[in-house]
Amino acid sequence: MSNPAPDLEFIKQNFPEPDSTRAVLPLLKGQKALVTGASSGIGKAVAIALGRAGADVVVNYATAPDNAEAVAAEIRKSGVKALTIKADVSNEGEVQAMFGKMFSEWGTIDVLVNNAGLQKDAAFHEMTLAQWQRVIDVNLTGQFLCAREAIREFKRRGIVKNVSCAAGKIVCISSVHDIIPWAGHVNYAASKGGVALMMKSIAQEVAPLRIRANSVSPGAIRTPINTAAWSTREAYNSLLTLIPYRRIGEAEEIGRAVVWLASDDSDYVTGATLYVDGGMTLYPGFDTGG
Ligand code: NAD
Repeated sequence: MSNPAPDLEFIKQNFPEPDSTRAVLPLLKGQKALVTGASSGIGKAVAIALGRAGADVVVNYATAPDNAEAVAAEIRKSGVKALTIKADVSNEGEVQAMFGKMFSEWGTIDVLVNNAGLQKDAAFHEMTLAQWQRVIDVNLTGQFLCAREAIREFKRRGIVKNVSCAAGKIVCISSVHDIIPWAGHVNYAASKGGVALMMKSIAQEVAPLRIRANSVSPGAIRTPINTAAWSTREAYNSLLTLIPYRRIGEAEEIGRAVVWLASDDSDYVTGATLYVDGGMTLYPGFDTGG
């Protein structure tokens, strides 16, 4: 079934442009970050937010090099370095080549943001193995492959005191669907449920090395992945019934949460899942007492 065309007037009236004048603390000054899937949506906003907080940022992309270059240009406006690197996060060789390029250009990595993800929706009885496999490959195996490369480097290098009190930080972009089941999206929910326990198990394993791993689990955030859910008044009103805070989230709000989790301000936080969801995980169907 095709989605109705976006209502451009509705979009203009209801959704703000990001506030580029908002003050940001230089919490990540001197750190080197890599954000996967950073040419659009949440990854783009996270990459720009890390740059504004003082980090040099690798902008990973799978397609659309022009969009990735535009994100890099925006990051450089903060006076930090930005580098675009193409890699499919589900491909081991491409992931290793991406980290190799980052290390040869910048020497090391301090922050990995595992953001790349996609949906291949289908009713469960009609879901093909290819739809199942692609979502698991990108959303779960992709996070494994990138986290493994980052942790190898964190272990090799250890703590650099004037950079961060941790030896490295990983932030996984998961979803409220790591805890809320999602009919019609079983592959996606399974991948995010996998991310939740992969992240916690990694965090447990590497905590003695002072390496931290956490997740940000967004609720409904206004990006290209879910345009059909917010681009007409009817769709948006229906979405709001699921959100106690009664508005969709903006990608910049995920950026601010990631900056905090990547910074020394959250140094005692590891293995945590931070739901940034306007209360979507608060069982909104029970808001009148059930
Ligand atoms: P998006 O489609 O704008 O971004 C996804 C990005 O991942 C794109 O840039 C895409 O090119 C990239 N990507 C896809 N496959 C890739 C691959 N194999 N290798 C490298 N990059 C690849 O959508 P978004 O909403 O910004 O999604 C970003 C992340 O946030 C995803 O993990 C998604 O599951 C998660 N998320 C989004 C929402 C939301 O409401 N938008 C809610 C919960 C979780």
